[in-house]
Amino acid sequence: MNPSEMSFYQPDHDAFRVSVREFVQREISPFYLEWEEQHLVDRTAFAAAGAAGVLGTRVEEAYGGGGTDDYRFRFIVAEELASAGAASYSAGLAVQEDIVIPYVMELGSEEQKRRWLPGLTSGNQLGAIAMTEPGAGSDLQGTRTTAVRDGDEWLISGQKTFITNGIQSDTIVVLARTNPDAGSRGFSLFVVEAGDSGFSRGRKLDKIGLVAQDTAELFFEKVRVGRDRLLGEEGNGLRYLMERLPLERLSIAVAALCSAEAAYGWARDYVFERQAFSQDVGDFQTVRFTLAEIETELEVTRAYVEAATLKLNRGSLTAVDAAKAKWWASELQQRVINRSLQLFGGYGYMLEYPIARAYRDARIQTIYGGTTEIMKEIIGRDIAARAKRR
Ligand SMILES: Cc1cc2nc3c(=O)[nH]c(=O)nc-3n(C[C@H](O)[C@H](O)[C@H](O)COP(=O)(O)OP(=O)(O)OC[C@H]3O[C@@H](n4cnc5c(N)ncnc54)[C@H](O)[C@@H]3O)c2cc1C
Repeated sequence: MNPSEMSFYQPDHDAFRVSVREFVQREISPFYLEWEEQHLVDRTAFAAAGAAGVLGTRVEEAYGGGGTDDYRFRFIVAEELASAGAASYSAGLAVQEDIVIPYVMELGSEEQKRRWLPGLTSGNQLGAIAMTEPGAGSDLQGTRTTAVRDGDEWLISGQKTFITNGIQSDTIVVLARTNPDAGSRGFSLFVVEAGDSGFSRGRKLDKIGLVAQDTAELFFEKVRVGRDRLLGEEGNGLRYLMERLPLERLSIAVAALCSAEAAYGWARDYVFERQAFSQDVGDFQTVRFTLAEIETELEVTRAYVEAATLKLNRGSLTAVDAAKAKWWASELQQRVINRSLQLFGGYGYMLEYPIARAYRDARIQTIYGGTTEIMKEIIGRDIAARAKRR
């Protein structure tokens, strides 16, 4: 079965793809290696995405967005960026589009939406989500950043790390503990703005891969915020995070699948151009078997991820569905890229080849957005609960 026969996309998606591809060719590919060298995507690339309608697809038109809740449009953006080997940019864009914007859109008051959504949608403002701390990643109940009441305001103090878009962000959604005695109901979400007194950024962190993606430490020293910066209700922070994880995790699964498909495509083409022992490398049976295995795995995975996307569109994607998609697709991505790289021989190890950069960039995917182990924990807990109910 060829994935394109599954009618996942409709004509309006195909038209959107044409404009995304043109955007990537014009605004991303010519500059990408330069961004990797400077270890930072130029922020104008986000504004360019806004201008091209590639960003803010889900945002209501009143705030400048595309006004669709069809995630297939995002899928197309991920496919096109993966084909161009632009993983660092894709990851930064995904944080803005699939995490920060939905938080503001779904939890923000009308005033908050008017304040932040137009800039996030146009890409003139960059967003970040600051959950992880030096001592708390998988276990967010270990969050130490506090927001202490001072009359009608809060003073936020603490430290966050590994924050995507951290260096360039203007609008940062921060998880902080508002009541140490309230257990999981003791956390809230606030928006900190770059100019707030007491907010500062630490190092731009050096990473194995995604080298152009901006990842940073953030510091909060008694950052004073009023009610207008509280997202949703006080005490609901962890619940809000959990509710939005299916989208965040599907976003990573989609990026993982697209990146694996792109890598496989490069390797498949290469082995029929490269000769060894007087024949195409692709004519050795072992190479063909490798291609056969990879292509099968990719098609089976695509069927699941596409089904998950349609479930998200219908509002029925569960945390368990998304956990399955995330761990499976991100682990598959690593296997596929590793095997595809092998087919390039020594050239696969050279960073001038997209396959080498894809290999390096893939490693994080089983870690952020919830590790593979945490995904299996979520799925396993659900299995156990169902089994015990019988
Ligand atoms: C490039 C990059 C970008 C990131 N972007 C962001 C961002 O924008 N915002 C943000 O808030 N965070 C971000 N993160 C942080 C990321 O989400 C965390 O690193 C991740 O959730 C894991 O947390 P941790 O690093 O504290 O690892 P830990 O939680 O300390 O985990 C260490 C190991 O223990 C395992 N483990 C933990 N608990 C269990 C368990 N119950 N059962 C079995 N094994 C377990 C983990 O799977 C892992 O293998 C980013 C990280 C990186 C590297």
